[in-house]
Amino acid sequence: MSPLNQPYLKTEASAEDLRLRFPQYLKHGTKLDRAINAALARAVKEHRFLPSGRRIYTVVGNLGDEFIDPERPYCSCSHFFFRVLGHKDELCYHLLSYAIASESGLIDVVTFSDEEYSPFMAAVVRDIFRTLDRDSGL
Ligand SMILES: [Zn+2]
Repeated sequence: MSPLNQPYLKTEASAEDLRLRFPQYLKHGTKLDRAINAALARAVKEHRFLPSGRRIYTVVGNLGDEFIDPERPYCSCSHFFFRVLGHKDELCYHLLSYAIASESGLIDVVTFSDEEYSPFMAAVVRDIFRTLDRDSGL
């Protein structure tokens, strides 16, 4: 759905294309710009485990990787914990970035075997702790 009836651009979209394509997200202001830049940088990753087909999503952020669960929705970042769960904000830019990437074909899919699930999650959790450590100085 494009307000200007532009052809659907799967991977060659610019930040301006994405802003026009998602007028419903303009209310998010600078958070939308961060989310669009992250989507264009292919920061939204789908880790697909096979043969189960289970999927884990992460967003590579400025401080480190964040774990997101778009279904719930949930994000491991501090903004989500304090502002979203505290009912002061609707969502963090990671989840907004997922929404944009998912609707624009910009999710980077990486496949793993099911046996790699435990070491993968251990690495994600380590990264989340590292990010929280850096974030706590703010
Ligand atoms: Zn977040």
